[in-house]
Amino acid sequence: MTEIYLDANATTAVLPAAIDAAARAMKECFGNPSSSHATGIRAKTLMSQVRQRAARLLGAGDGRLMFNSGATEGIQTAVLSALCALRERQSAGQRIGKFLLYGATEHKAVPESLMHWNRLLGLNLELKKLPVDQDGQHDLEALRLLAGDAALVCTMAANNETGVISELAQIEAVLQQSGSDAYWLVDCVQALGKMQLDLAATRIDYATFSGHKLYAPKGVGMLYVRPGAPFTPLIMGGGQESGQRSGTENMAGIAALGAVLGALEDGVTFRSHQQLHGFRARLVASLRLAFPDIVFNQPLEKTLPTTLNFSVPGLASKELLDLFDAAQLRVSSGSACSAAKSAPSYVLDAMQLPLWRSSSAIRMSFGPLADDAFISAACARIEHCGLAWRQGAAAAPSAAADPVVRFNLDGVNAWLVADDASRSCVIIDPSSLLAPRLAAYVRNHGYQLRAILSTKALPMQDNARCELARALGSDAEPGAGNDAFGWPAPDSSELMLGERKFLCKRQSEHQAYLLGSAGEEPFAPHFAFIGELPAAAIESTLIEPDTLLCPAHDETGRLCTSLRAEQNPAHEESASGMHLEAAALAQFLAAHPGALLVDVREAYEHAAGMTSAPGQTVLHVPLSRLASHLSLWLRGAPVPLVFFCRSGNRSDKAVACLRRLGYRNAWHVSGGLALGNPVLRLDYPKAA
Ligand code: PLP
Repeated sequence: MTEIYLDANATTAVLPAAIDAAARAMKECFGNPSSSHATGIRAKTLMSQVRQRAARLLGAGDGRLMFNSGATEGIQTAVLSALCALRERQSAGQRIGKFLLYGATEHKAVPESLMHWNRLLGLNLELKKLPVDQDGQHDLEALRLLAGDAALVCTMAANNETGVISELAQIEAVLQQSGSDAYWLVDCVQALGKMQLDLAATRIDYATFSGHKLYAPKGVGMLYVRPGAPFTPLIMGGGQESGQRSGTENMAGIAALGAVLGALEDGVTFRSHQQLHGFRARLVASLRLAFPDIVFNQPLEKTLPTTLNFSVPGLASKELLDLFDAAQLRVSSGSACSAAKSAPSYVLDAMQLPLWRSSSAIRMSFGPLADDAFISAACARIEHCGLAWRQGAAAAPSAAADPVVRFNLDGVNAWLVADDASRSCVIIDPSSLLAPRLAAYVRNHGYQLRAILSTKALPMQDNARCELARALGSDAEPGAGNDAFGWPAPDSSELMLGERKFLCKRQSEHQAYLLGSAGEEPFAPHFAFIGELPAAAIESTLIEPDTLLCPAHDETGRLCTSLRAEQNPAHEESASGMHLEAAALAQFLAAHPGALLVDVREAYEHAAGMTSAPGQTVLHVPLSRLASHLSLWLRGAPVPLVFFCRSGNRSDKAVACLRRLGYRNAWHVSGGLALGNPVLRLDYPKAA
């Protein structure tokens, strides 16, 4: 299965013509453009041809276009130039305005540079965010109010997360009407090749560009400076680029950028806007088919035709990323995302989208080189992912282990305990965001919902419990004979679930649920569902030192623990460092013939792309089912277990958990499947 790369707003592959141009520049036109001999003159000529081409394409007129390392450098240079000029004007007693105004959805390079240079230059102007509306476009009324007091205005041309296109003409009109003399920086990184720019016809003072967002290599970019706009070099030295940016030029990068600009000019290499709109509509249709509840986080008619940003109710961005990545489909989360918690996207927050959308967003972006065949393959892969998700949701729990399943969203757990013989289940600590997934799981498995329990007392109308009960048409709804914890038998502390028994332990505000075999005397619970860790608050009389404690809150990804582990910090220390490099795996397996490989990716990832290891046994134990298997492993003979996952993050957590619980024979493959591995092979369903 070939990789489908849909993350063009992060970076693109390099255009073959650009690779050729870079190779030619390195082999044949390798001169230093500052040298006066013929080799140098050839390099200089190449550079000025690329500059002229860029000036034509961007409508730079008499403005200056200098080559640099990319947009972050361009932004530094523009900010430094504007702030140095403001400082001079301030020292000369001129009025300069008090705000450094920047769009609330700007790339971090803008506010960070403003903050940095404002402090270093001792200007102490006030950084002020220009709000955006719900469509992500700048609030022009707010700009009208602030423009008169702005010393510098920074507004991007198109947003990298959402593709929302800024209304530059309207921004310019507001600046004009309010008589603002602010300098104006426009970050054009995402606009290059996707929007018509006619820089000299505007009052834009500085515009920044980056090669790697449009099929040129990383490390080359351009800065446009309007004639008459102040300029201060960021880098001093040999006086290259007419003294504006010293340092011998990146000729391979400039040549490659020239080839990309040439492709833009030829009008045939890249797809037209109309074609790109058609491509995106097809992706949208496939996404809707794959995830019927999907919501798009941007107004499609106001965005670049190459960007999609969406959320799916009940699915964390991490889960969607894992699913897509398992199917070799590369996308990115719309927000910075760590394993346990997805940080909400400040861009979507600025658009005032609900938290669940800003923290679970996925960005899918392609470049204008995409063609019909690529989009067809991408659509098929998206639909395959939808199917894999549904198959994963319906995957039967392993019969061998206790049927305890963990559902997690951003560090909050819900637990489901099932009894397959009686097709019934109990859910503990559902949250509103997880309710749709829990409901789908219960429905897919044909379970009867016996109770929805909480570890803390909740109002009768608690949303999550009510939503879940209603979605399943269950009488587990609070108020229907249940107490504030959802316990269905207020006059008894026991609840039977097939061969297993729940025992509830109430402690004022909290309640813990112990689960064990009904027939075991004395009762020895395998699991205790508790609200918070550490478990010190729980009365330990009924809990064995090795009972698995399953928390409702798990911000740090500890998964499960036990009283013994909690009381023995040495276990925690030994929990890390059990990494096996990909290259060392074969050797490890040869030295440990009884070792088992354990894939901790989720069932939907297995459905999207299976792993096999010829000659080895691979167990599929999704991290969500780890608790079930822990109770087996901890009671059995300690065979060496080697965990792996997509990137090494979850397998690391699994190993840490096992070791914390005293299981020493656990390892994990660092870097996971993402780095490739001589032992582990990815297999894909034919239809995908
Ligand atoms: N501005 C925007 C809108 C971007 O998307 C990026 C890259 O992510 C940058 C600036 C920084 O560009 P570069 O990687 O060339 O420094």
